[in-house]
Amino acid sequence: MNLSIVIPVYNEQDNLPMLFDSIYTTMKPVNHSWEAVFIDDGSRDNSLQILQEYAQKDPEHIRLVSFRRNFGQTAAIAAGIDYSVGEIIILLDADMQNDPADIPMLLAKLDEGYDLVSGWRKIRKDNAITRNFPSMIANKIISWVTGVHLHDYGCTLKAYRREVLEGFRLYGEMHRFIPVYANSVGAKITEMPVRHHPRRFGKTKYGMERTVKVILDLFTVKFLVSYSSKPIYVFGSAGGFLILSSAILLTYLFIRRIFFAVGIASSPLLPLTAMFFILGFQSILMGLIAEMLVRTYHESQRKPTYTIRKKININE
Ligand code: UDP
Ligand code: MG
Repeated sequence: MNLSIVIPVYNEQDNLPMLFDSIYTTMKPVNHSWEAVFIDDGSRDNSLQILQEYAQKDPEHIRLVSFRRNFGQTAAIAAGIDYSVGEIIILLDADMQNDPADIPMLLAKLDEGYDLVSGWRKIRKDNAITRNFPSMIANKIISWVTGVHLHDYGCTLKAYRREVLEGFRLYGEMHRFIPVYANSVGAKITEMPVRHHPRRFGKTKYGMERTVKVILDLFTVKFLVSYSSKPIYVFGSAGGFLILSSAILLTYLFIRRIFFAVGIASSPLLPLTAMFFILGFQSILMGLIAEMLVRTYHESQRKPTYTIRKKININE
């Protein structure tokens, strides 16, 4: 098996027949063995029944995992990855906003030697004010903070080599940050415009509030990717900066006391000095605790702190 298409489904009954048609039409001429892994994310309409029918009709290609309740798109994607077997994974929305017909193009790009091909909804058919604009800003911020420059983190339609997904647990809204993680383990990443269609049936499950969640997740991802093996660099720098500020303030207070006879105790700067010092000290101690956690994390799972692309003549 070399291609798995992973599709999260939440209340998409009216989109499913078209989606299946489109997948079959697309995959017929493609020269890969393939499976489509559907995750029913606790749908309350007929999605599950419809998926079951298709799965029974075509056990060779259609897999189905059904959640007990709605766990969210990211959890559904995580399950899809866990239960798929392909060396290549394509993520796809079930609502026909992504176009399955783009799959061969993404595969061809992967074949050029990339590990991740990111779909970019260059002409996006969502609400301009509540969705497209906030998402444009979010994409700019994410690119700037992470140094991985993509136009469209939010587009589900992307192609991945399985290796770059392994070892990254997905929480919150984090499936969109897979490229950041992939980059941190040395993946070759590129992007490619894909088609985008307006939603014809059913409703979007998201609004503007998602942008806030995405930005909060960005903090976690940035920390995990850049500092997870050296947290003391973050806490220590912050702590060092605070202690230094405290020392400078204190020196200033002493000089004022000695040369200008201004009392130290009455100055509001004194509590500030103390605060900086205490926070700085705390920060360094937290950094040391984080260092211990990191060691537990890596060593308990025997998770190395590096990733290897290729091995030659190495016996496992
Ligand atoms: N989805 C899901 N669980 C959820 C929300 C959404 O599995 O809790 C699926 C949904 O069925 C669709 C995809 O995730 O296949 C994207 O959702 P949606 O179209 O609502 O997002 P948008 O395109 O508006 O960003
Ligand atoms: Mg959609």
